Amino acid sequence: MLGQMMQMPLLISSLLEHAERYHGATEIISVNTSGGKTRTHWAAVGQRARQLASQLDQLGIQAGECCATLAWNNHRHLEIYFGVSSSGRVCHTINPRLFPAQLSFIINHAQDQVLFFDKTFLPLVVGLREHLPSVKAYVLLDAPDAVVEVQLPGVLFYEDLIAAGDSQYQWPSLDEQSASSLCYTSGTTGDPKGVLYSHRSTVLHSLAVSLPDSLGLSAQDCVMPVVPMFHVNAWGIPYAAALTGASLVMPGPGLDGASLLQLIDEEQVTLALGVPTIWQGLLSAIEKSGSTVPSLKRTVVGGAACPPSMMAKFRDYGVDTIHAWGMTELSPIGTVNALLHKHMTLPIEDQQQIRLSQGRPVFGIELRLINDQGEVLANDGKTQGNLQCRGHWVVDTYFHAEHPALEAGWFSTGDVATMDADGYMQIRDRSKDIIKSGGEWISTVELENIALAHPDLIGAAAIAAKHEKWDERPLLIAVRREGREPSAAEILAFFDGKIAKWQIPDAVIFVESLPLNGTGKLMKNKLREQFGEHLLQPAADAKPSTI
Ligand code: ADP
Repeated sequence: MLGQMMQMPLLISSLLEHAERYHGATEIISVNTSGGKTRTHWAAVGQRARQLASQLDQLGIQAGECCATLAWNNHRHLEIYFGVSSSGRVCHTINPRLFPAQLSFIINHAQDQVLFFDKTFLPLVVGLREHLPSVKAYVLLDAPDAVVEVQLPGVLFYEDLIAAGDSQYQWPSLDEQSASSLCYTSGTTGDPKGVLYSHRSTVLHSLAVSLPDSLGLSAQDCVMPVVPMFHVNAWGIPYAAALTGASLVMPGPGLDGASLLQLIDEEQVTLALGVPTIWQGLLSAIEKSGSTVPSLKRTVVGGAACPPSMMAKFRDYGVDTIHAWGMTELSPIGTVNALLHKHMTLPIEDQQQIRLSQGRPVFGIELRLINDQGEVLANDGKTQGNLQCRGHWVVDTYFHAEHPALEAGWFSTGDVATMDADGYMQIRDRSKDIIKSGGEWISTVELENIALAHPDLIGAAAIAAKHEKWDERPLLIAVRREGREPSAAEILAFFDGKIAKWQIPDAVIFVESLPLNGTGKLMKNKLREQFGEHLLQPAADAKPSTI
């Protein structure tokens, strides 16, 4: 017997309509690419998204076709998220920090029909244009601009489109399985791969991220996604904010610590989300300014492991750090760290210890660990294995790929992790980064967490360096804090007692800065290329005295 309840498709338009109807006056504050701020609200976002959708009809863009963005986090990008997807097209957000050859590869692969871009990216777009045969319309995310018209003849202006748009446009009723948006993985090895999200996966993901033990969004929050909208849909925050009626602060192009701090204080941001490298900048700015960030209650840190020292610093300002793990293929949220009822009576130090890991699966996600032979491993908090995942918002098949990306129904994340009986998962490493020394595995994440707790370091990356006897040994690449001159020996001594002796790096190399990719993550492959043979050189001490 079937249930007898209404059946309504889970659509992105329903998120927007809810925000418009019940949170219409809630503010969306946006830093403009050209400076200054625009203040708008959910009702206006809804209206302008409809106007945009009607203009996509005029341009002849069909359902299922892709519209690309090269844009910062701002109110126009938000309108495009909703206007493009809700009208049945696919919103393809592109990371502008990719190489031009990668950009043209993914635009051609997706057969993008429209390219919306912020003025910052005009030179990039001008250079790419002749390589993009599928793009019918280039749209500058601004008011008409004669200079841009000269450089990119035939360009359209977003504000012209909106002004000519139909505010009475009605959202179509789509199949909830229809494609809604598209993101490519950063492709550190090989060509980038597209992950094509659906309306259903997006709405379910939004519900899950909004839950209290997840990112806990609410209508009382003023949320600042510092994580870019071109990086896995800003972790789903634009959709979750519409679902919960949260206010949004879109930081635009200025992602330095001082700019973010000013925004947090001016706009009373309560929840901010980003990768650890961004928060490093914010924490330095807070220290320098003397601000106590009184409004900020929570930060969500993900994309890379959050060093315990960073959580401690945020705690000093009364800010709770929520550690989360995910990936493009998971929309992205897989796990979030929150305490359980049974932990509430534990001493505060024990609670803080539990909060360090990447957390537990949210409803909708299932995880398991397997070994190289495909056998399922114990969830005992100690056994390390390859992390696999399945769930409502996990990729099945990459865009235009012939075969599913799954092994026996599970997606292999490429991460090595442990998991305990309660489901708390700890990322030990990416399988390609982990150090295999004499048959034993050493976690680069663990080494970096220790190094970053040293007061004289502001950056650290541990890599596998080739070694004659042990195959690989850990090498630490470190960035000193301004005005501090710690020696390699002092840094290595700092590891004593914190980790088994044989896991301590063999050497430290100091550099001015570490190479980061377009999403602010360490490019360890670059470091391995540069320093991977360091321990083979006669000058270096090739025999680890610690083993
Ligand atoms: P890419 O960096 O390849 O574009 P994603 O941005 O989707 O891919 O990143 C996914 C990867 O980032 C995960 O597989 C994991 O290795 C890493 N990651 C994400 N969050 C965390 C975290 N909290 N701790 C450690 N690693 C993380």
